[in-house]
Amino acid sequence: MTTAFVGVPCQIQALRKTNELVGEFKDIVSIGLFCRENWSYSCIRALVEDDYGVKLDSIDKFDIKKGKLKLLQKDGGVTNIPLAETHPYVRVNCQICLDFSAELADVSVGAVGTPKGWSTVIVRTKKGADLVEGAVAKGYLEAKDISEVKPGKMLVDKLSKEKRGENLAEAKRREDRGTKVPHIYSKDDESFDEFLKYAAGKQFAELEYIVVDTGACVSCGACAAVCPVDIIRFEDYRPVIVGEEKEGCNLCYLACPRTSMQIPAVEKAIGFTGKRDEDIGHYTAILAAKASSDKIMGQDGGVVTALLSYALDNQSVNRVVTVKRGERAWEPETAVVKDTAELLETAGTIYSMAITMQALKE
Ligand SMILES: Cc1cc2nc3c(=O)[nH]c(=O)nc-3n(C[C@H](O)[C@H](O)[C@H](O)COP(=O)(O)OP(=O)(O)OC[C@H]3O[C@@H](n4cnc5c(N)ncnc54)[C@H](O)[C@@H]3O)c2cc1C
Repeated sequence: MTTAFVGVPCQIQALRKTNELVGEFKDIVSIGLFCRENWSYSCIRALVEDDYGVKLDSIDKFDIKKGKLKLLQKDGGVTNIPLAETHPYVRVNCQICLDFSAELADVSVGAVGTPKGWSTVIVRTKKGADLVEGAVAKGYLEAKDISEVKPGKMLVDKLSKEKRGENLAEAKRREDRGTKVPHIYSKDDESFDEFLKYAAGKQFAELEYIVVDTGACVSCGACAAVCPVDIIRFEDYRPVIVGEEKEGCNLCYLACPRTSMQIPAVEKAIGFTGKRDEDIGHYTAILAAKASSDKIMGQDGGVVTALLSYALDNQSVNRVVTVKRGERAWEPETAVVKDTAELLETAGTIYSMAITMQALKE
């Protein structure tokens, strides 16, 4: 294993689809983050600075708690924005996403369902279990079965169900208005064969028509990452082509998580062995965990950073692809990290997308 990849659910879907349909980037352990939705950088800037008069560079941390987007400022001030007020700013592609808990990741991590200072961890595959168990054994992570820390029904189930229900309804509204939403999968998506036949010869123009122009593009960068002639760039988070395509090449169309998403076929290819829950997907363990080191200033339990630092220190990976703060305050930027000191700088959540898949190619 050489790379660890951190991503929200749509980025993990893109990674898995690229693995199975293009055969690229397989030697990777993936850490998925729970995600209800996110905002484009320009929208979050407008909301926070123009509507609420808070400068982004005065903010120490963003958090979402009890229906509020919380702006925790460096001077100790806190501004709460009701989540309902942020809805007009949510990226339109998030409104048709059905995955809350990053069901296709090796291990998923999120805030909901555990007390302050802990993270909820869903271990899904053998790779994920090796990572978590190794980090616990070497003292990077403290972990307990979730029922010991938070008894009762898990919030992650409830939020997953809610997200799926609301976004299926939105997808239906779009289809009723004549906009195709082709990644909404069904129980019939058990093999890739039909999609491979359908996608033959489909090039960037078709991808643009069905995904980008309809507001379904997640800006993951998978199309650029698999392009054999390297002619896909992103302009304001929108993919564009800047040269001549290779004749007959349809890799960008195949890799995109929004041209199709045959979840049953992908799940089969991943080879999950644990139980399958209809709301949160496959799992072998559900834990509450927190980083052991107080140097990790994580968003919640610092679990993602602890797992990654264990993996780098023990050389089970030699690079991490994740997200860090860019030059402009709170602007997300892809980070390719090779040592723990650099990794500590990436801890915490930035609530907008970076185009991280591109970095896998590099
Ligand atoms: C856009 C977004 C929405 C989220 N929504 C929810 C939610 O609704 N409910 C919930 O329970 N949890 C949500 N999370 C997850 C939560 O914010 C924490 O990331 C998670 O609990 C892990 O915390 P930690 O302290 O263990 O991780 P940390 O140790 O703080 O590590 C966080 C890791 O996430 C990476 N990261 C930061 N921003 C991004 C980004 N934009 N894209 C990809 N990677 C990133 C960092 O580089 C770091 O590697 C969301 C995360 C994101 C990025």
